[in-house]
Amino acid sequence: MKRNPTAFLKEEYEELVKKNLDWRLRILESGSTPHSIVDGKEVIMLCSNNYLNLSNHPKLIQGAIDAAKKYGAGSGSVRAIAGTMKLHMEVEKRLAKFKGTEAALVYQTGFAANAGLIPQLAGKGDITISDELNHGSIIDGVRLTKTDRAVYKHCDMGELEKVLKEADKKYRRILIVTDGVFSMDGDIAPMDKIVKLAEEYGAMTYVDDAHGEGVIGPDGRGIGAHFGIEEKIDVEMGTFSKAYGVVGGLIAGSRDLINFAYNKSRTWLLSGSHPPAVAGAQLAAIEVLETEPEHVKRLWDNTKYFKKELQNMGFDTGFSETPITPVIVGESSKAKELSDKLFEEGVFALPIVYPMVARDKARIRTMMNAGLTKEDLDFALEKFEKLGKQLKII
Ligand SMILES: *Cc1c(COP(=O)(O)O)cnc(C)c1O
Repeated sequence: MKRNPTAFLKEEYEELVKKNLDWRLRILESGSTPHSIVDGKEVIMLCSNNYLNLSNHPKLIQGAIDAAKKYGAGSGSVRAIAGTMKLHMEVEKRLAKFKGTEAALVYQTGFAANAGLIPQLAGKGDITISDELNHGSIIDGVRLTKTDRAVYKHCDMGELEKVLKEADKKYRRILIVTDGVFSMDGDIAPMDKIVKLAEEYGAMTYVDDAHGEGVIGPDGRGIGAHFGIEEKIDVEMGTFSKAYGVVGGLIAGSRDLINFAYNKSRTWLLSGSHPPAVAGAQLAAIEVLETEPEHVKRLWDNTKYFKKELQNMGFDTGFSETPITPVIVGESSKAKELSDKLFEEGVFALPIVYPMVARDKARIRTMMNAGLTKEDLDFALEKFEKLGKQLKII
């Protein structure tokens, strides 16, 4: 058959454009700072994951410069062969201490950690059990396993227990996987209850704390510390790309877990290690978290103020318990319109629409930043109020 083998590229792209579902990239012309220059315009940044504003912290920048000067621009290899520098080992040692676990391991990205480790933890004859709202990188990690799969209703512990009861008799291993902080709603998984159920049924627990790392728990130590159960979670996975202000995935847990993970994770074994500048900045980020508690405090002060004011105005902010505050507006088109108008007024916050959330729950997702001042927040709030009234949301 004479076919055009690449015609689908244009067709599928145009289909997305027609539905207004294609990504149109906004371009930053400054660092990702509380006031950023985006598409030539100065805006209050309310959609970066740089919660603590650490990506612009002088100590992180200096850490990156010093490491690049000493060790060069690249690492030369994958970690397992010749790409493990003393600096990479130092980061892992400091990280384990910070997280309160026996050991830690750094992956290229959080996505690489989920895609590389989950498929090794469970296989044929096993079952993975997931929260229905888990992140796409967990879903892909689970797809790479040869296990049976079950999904429970969002944070529904009754349903999780039902699945566990069934699974207990039938499977060799049981792996429960969940987001720690859910990225669309900003709510927190009941890890204390999940761990208790897991103990009862002999299941392994894996929590993806990408949005909790550096944000929840004392000094931003993450979800284990938040519930005081660091020792009881089998795998705590997180990222350096959000609150830590750099890039890189991480896992924290027992020495056995780390030995297993670096010998088995294909993403870790088969992909180059971080450039020295990245490792240098990671090390500085941990040090800043350990020694400058004011960033986490400011993040939460800002969060509480912003959330309360939005609620006072009459906005529906859902179930958020974290610096992710959704402003639920209803229809997708309305969320997009609000986002566009906010941008024109100098506030950058992205719409989240169907199919990422339910059809009638389209929203603007705001992410707080420790570097925003009260004046900045009042400026943004005033725009939300004005446009919310104009679009008849409040
Ligand atoms: C951002 C995110 C990831 C991916 O982390 P990266 O280090 O940026 O690859 C994984 N899981 C969740 C829940 C996330 O929000």
